[in-house]
Amino acid sequence: MVARKDQATDPALLDQLLQARRGTAFFARKLNELRDAELDGDSLLPGWTRRHVVSHIGYNARAVARLVEWARTGVETPMYPSVAVRNWEIEFGATLSPIALRNLFDHSAVHLNVEWRDLPDEAWSHEVKTIQGRTVPASETVWMRNREIWVHAVDLNNGASFADIPRPVLSRLLGDITGAWKARGTDKDLVLQVTDAEPGVPSELGDVDSPDAVRVTGSLGAVTAWAAGRSNDGLVAEGPDASPVAVPAAPAWI
Ligand code: ZN
Repeated sequence: MVARKDQATDPALLDQLLQARRGTAFFARKLNELRDAELDGDSLLPGWTRRHVVSHIGYNARAVARLVEWARTGVETPMYPSVAVRNWEIEFGATLSPIALRNLFDHSAVHLNVEWRDLPDEAWSHEVKTIQGRTVPASETVWMRNREIWVHAVDLNNGASFADIPRPVLSRLLGDITGAWKARGTDKDLVLQVTDAEPGVPSELGDVDSPDAVRVTGSLGAVTAWAAGRSNDGLVAEGPDASPVAVPAAPAWI
């Protein structure tokens, strides 16, 4: 008999699964608010229409589901055969009819959810590889999907904002982004100040020991939206002498 509930038992993982399901419901709601003709409109991503965003989210669910299958079966099934195939797939999906595009989103999300639900508890620690070549436990797929579904719901550009993204997702996303900057050394003389940080999460990020830092201050949602390259709203910036300066462009994230 097929299990009807999650086989995972780790409470933190179950929380993340809930967050991802909420993200899928949120994306679905924003997508449903768009009429077919509006799918041709611009997303927040340069060069991408809303169609590209929906296509990407659909194929992303399939790619993440392949990693979960890999964890379940032990048979290596990469996210995508190559970056070129991934990109081609997005372009192809963007040409689908509106009904086919909406079906791609729905069916791929349901499939991923079933793969997660039926993954045996012990298989969540099995290792798989992301398209960037990182080896991660299968449990990481839940975060990978959370990040995609919430941020790209905003990218649909029809009213969602980072303020709609749950705070634990924002906190982890900001940690990922600033961690990537630090690893590349692109956060030099840049400090982020979060005015409403989660308990136990640092409120200052970036090049915190620099005496010459420009400081960008705002709410967790505003700072994360800026760090992800999506918006400069709700931020103030000051130079090393505490004088106001223009909010700088955030370093590249991906
Ligand atoms: Zn993406």
